[in-house]
Amino acid sequence: MMEEADVKNASVGKGGLPDRDGNVTLDACIMDKNGDYGAVMCVQNITHVISLARKVMEETPHVMLAGKGAEKFGYQQGFKKEKLLTESSKKAWEKWKETSQYKPIINIENHDTIGMLAIDNNGDISGACTTSGLSYKMAGRVGDSPIIGSGLFIDNEIGGATATGMGEEVLKTVGSFLIVELMRQGKTPQEACEEAVRRVVKKSGNRFKDFQVGFIAINKQGETGAYCIHEGFNYNVYKQEENKNYKATYFNKA
Ligand code: ASP
Repeated sequence: MMEEADVKNASVGKGGLPDRDGNVTLDACIMDKNGDYGAVMCVQNITHVISLARKVMEETPHVMLAGKGAEKFGYQQGFKKEKLLTESSKKAWEKWKETSQYKPIINIENHDTIGMLAIDNNGDISGACTTSGLSYKMAGRVGDSPIIGSGLFIDNEIGGATATGMGEEVLKTVGSFLIVELMRQGKTPQEACEEAVRRVVKKSGNRFKDFQVGFIAINKQGETGAYCIHEGFNYNVYKQEENKNYKATYFNKA
């Protein structure tokens, strides 16, 4: 929520980098311990899309709302209409337009979805994911982040996982669902994240050199794991009132 409102964070919410037409479009989802889910995608003019996703989960008989319909529902629910394109994002976009080169760059602001997994004192697990997606994406492009099983998946009997990075590649492996299923088969969160990254890498041929994917996971015991393709993916673990930042281990040692 706070990050969505932070205009300096160029990868989520207000201040997120726009698509190639200059429109900021946001994706988010949320999943709870009951396996209930809510997602919104390609939403313009609303900052707190994660809260909007929650409203979809709690207030509608549906699980996903896209574009104009999601926005309309947001206003009905009392969300404010806001301009999401900030001056600095607009400047960055104008600079990009000079060459219009679409080359996703590893580990800089281009990739930085916020994925969260939570476990409470009862051992109940839930999660959420929010993003402005890939900067300068094609209009209408939706990545993995709001898609159940790809950007986020929770099974309260087993654990949860969430993803960041090149959404197209996470979608092809249904990465978060895969991790939860690997944990079901007995893998630790760390082993499951590593296996999922290896699958993404394997499917990509040699292309993995040019994109980043990172996963985090948690199991029923509260053990966590994280793994990514390239160095540079950090994550936080908040436990017993202490917030620690870790560097995820990575695949590409070359
Ligand atoms: N996963 C996001 C997407 O493809 C991008 C990111 O993590 O930065 O939409």
